Amino acid sequence: MLGGAPGRSGYAGLLSTPSPSAPPDPLPGRSTTDVLVVGGGPIGLAIAWRARARGLTVTLCERGGLPSYLSAAHVAAGMLAPVAEADPQELALLGLGLDSAARWAAFAGELGEASGLEVGYRDCGTLVVARDRDEAEHVDREIRLREQLGVPVARLLPSAARRLEPALAPAIRAAFHAPDDHAVDPRTVCEALLIACELAGVHLRPGCEVAAVDGDGVRLASGEHVPAGQVVIAAGAWAPRIEGLPCLPVRPVKGQVLRLAARAGEGHLLEHVVRWDGGYLVPRGDGRVILGATMEDRGYDTTVTALGVYELLRDAGELVPGVLELDLEAAVAGLRPATPDNAPLLGAWEGVTLACGHHRNGILLTPVTADRITALLLGEDAGIDPAFAPGRFARQPA
Ligand SMILES: Cc1cc2nc3c(=O)[nH]c(=O)nc-3n(C[C@H](O)[C@H](O)[C@H](O)COP(=O)(O)OP(=O)(O)OC[C@H]3O[C@@H](n4cnc5c(N)ncnc54)[C@H](O)[C@@H]3O)c2cc1C
Repeated sequence: MLGGAPGRSGYAGLLSTPSPSAPPDPLPGRSTTDVLVVGGGPIGLAIAWRARARGLTVTLCERGGLPSYLSAAHVAAGMLAPVAEADPQELALLGLGLDSAARWAAFAGELGEASGLEVGYRDCGTLVVARDRDEAEHVDREIRLREQLGVPVARLLPSAARRLEPALAPAIRAAFHAPDDHAVDPRTVCEALLIACELAGVHLRPGCEVAAVDGDGVRLASGEHVPAGQVVIAAGAWAPRIEGLPCLPVRPVKGQVLRLAARAGEGHLLEHVVRWDGGYLVPRGDGRVILGATMEDRGYDTTVTALGVYELLRDAGELVPGVLELDLEAAVAGLRPATPDNAPLLGAWEGVTLACGHHRNGILLTPVTADRITALLLGEDAGIDPAFAPGRFARQPA
């Protein structure tokens, strides 16, 4: 654990054990790091790990501790769900999501080997269900849309959905199954990335808030200047607060979630991710279930509210009544880094490299973002779709 955040068993031990294959200090006798990454969420950590693996010297500054309890990933459910989230207005994002989803199994395996942590990747598929006639019609439209887009889904009779997931209420009216939408545990992913970065020789600096980007690096809130060859902004919802950048079209969208757990000796409630209009249940391998999530424009507020908790439990209890028998471990809220078109800002702009604005899909998009941004840092053809160009909003007429 770095920077005073409470760690999980095994984590601190792994970090304090020198790896026989760990490279030497990445910055021996050098005053300038090749790459300075701002932000220790999943995007910043994955870029740092990949860039270091490609031979770059990397420093990562995180204003909180590491792992970061400020990161949206600390709250995220961990759905890898490009199919369930598909929107005909967001085809480029769908393509990026499918690309990243296809990378996830290998990414999880590689990360597991590098860190010694199992990151909770589950190829469980997603069930999308409807409670009433209106929702059933909506589910019907969603199935037809996915068929037109050529992404695999299977329409299910309510009885078939209940055979697949016996915890579903008899009252459900319609359902479809997205077999390729999976899930992962974001907290463990960040812990594993942190270990992998440490062992690879990334210079990790928890408790370092970057106040501004300047000509040849960054200025920390402490006043220290850190020189860097290239700067990557992976500061999530807080990216617009960094001085010296163009006006970034990123805003925080608050999400409240409940972390639920079965009592010892009781079986797992769910095997699949279950989604409905306005919510979802995501099972973890240890029997825990994440119930989410609200979508609220409330600035940087992360208060958990009685209304948020009530609405989540009311809806989930209607669809999966067994949820109400679980223990409530925690109610937490985090900030999704949203953009006007829900797609991330990826690429070089005004002297920095941006990797932010991943909104509801930052966990899904971690592998593809890390690979493409690393290619960009190395001067390779990163193949980033212009739909994600950071300056795309600036070019639009007012
Ligand atoms: C309720 C909820 C549910 C979600 N569910 C899913 C899901 O199921 N699937 C999915 O794919 N995504 C999900 N997400 C979205 C996902 O969590 C985010 O898209 C993802 O965490 C973004 O990663 P990031 O690294 O860009 O930003 P973050 O994870 O927010 O990390 C940014 C980091 O930068 C640090 N930082 C900020 N400013 C500075 C600075 N000036 N100097 C130094 N450090 C700084 C912050 O402290 C933070 O640690 C969910 C999010 C929420 C809130």
